[in-house]
Amino acid sequence: MRNLPIPETKNKQKLAKIIRSKNRPYKERLARIHSRVKSRYDDYDHHANVLENISTSVITGVCSDALIKCYTSKTEEMSALRDELLYPELEDFDECPFCGIGEPTTLDHYLPKEEFPEFSVLSKNLIPVCGVCNSNYKGSNWIENGNRLFLHTYYDQFPDEYLFEASVIVTNKVTIDFSTIFVVAEPYFCNIFQHHFDKLHLNKRFKRKASTEIKRKRRSLELIYSRNYSANDVSNSLREEANGLEIDYSKNHWKTVLYRALSNSVIFCDAGFRKQVIA
Ligand SMILES: [Zn+2]
Repeated sequence: MRNLPIPETKNKQKLAKIIRSKNRPYKERLARIHSRVKSRYDDYDHHANVLENISTSVITGVCSDALIKCYTSKTEEMSALRDELLYPELEDFDECPFCGIGEPTTLDHYLPKEEFPEFSVLSKNLIPVCGVCNSNYKGSNWIENGNRLFLHTYYDQFPDEYLFEASVIVTNKVTIDFSTIFVVAEPYFCNIFQHHFDKLHLNKRFKRKASTEIKRKRRSLELIYSRNYSANDVSNSLREEANGLEIDYSKNHWKTVLYRALSNSVIFCDAGFRKQVIA
């Protein structure tokens, strides 16, 4: 999970170009609401950090359809925007910013296009995420009882804090569970993060990744352990790995959190890693 830089697209110019590229009857319908959409772009900017407070859309019917079509029809302008957002000029962007697992191959309308058709092609409202986050979980959900349910990765800035942790339980099997940490100094962010974590089923999805990761790592842990039969050696190696991941990824990547938790579990390090892991 991470922030992304706000796209530098000149959105009002882009909108004008898209409208110009359209044919009748859409061109006329879009021309009719063009200035209203532009003023809604300003509203988006004003509410960017508190989008739960933005007013509901007043654009309906054929005009709403025409705006949604700007996104869904295959046009040169839209393909260029899609490429710009899915392949930003970032050195290290190959994981979904919502989950840190899948490849970001789809664009999520943070404010759903059905409810806010005027933001259908607004780059700041389009977040490159994986298909699982987008289609299986987020879809057109975004708010419940006035609270936002997902982090807006352009605007909700991740604090430099540990936001979730893993518990490692070793019996005759190894069970890993991920849960959020409430940071008292960041109540607003943490409330959204809690929903984000639950709605995207991140515990279930991280558990599965953790199970495969441990199975993959088992042989190298066995090698370290068999040198001196020392749980400490295993723990140190896992901690080093966690520290590296924290630098290379972030504090709040599932892998960093997993390695940190494993390094702190004496029973796991003391040959507990040989046991079957529950996915
Ligand atoms: Zn994802």
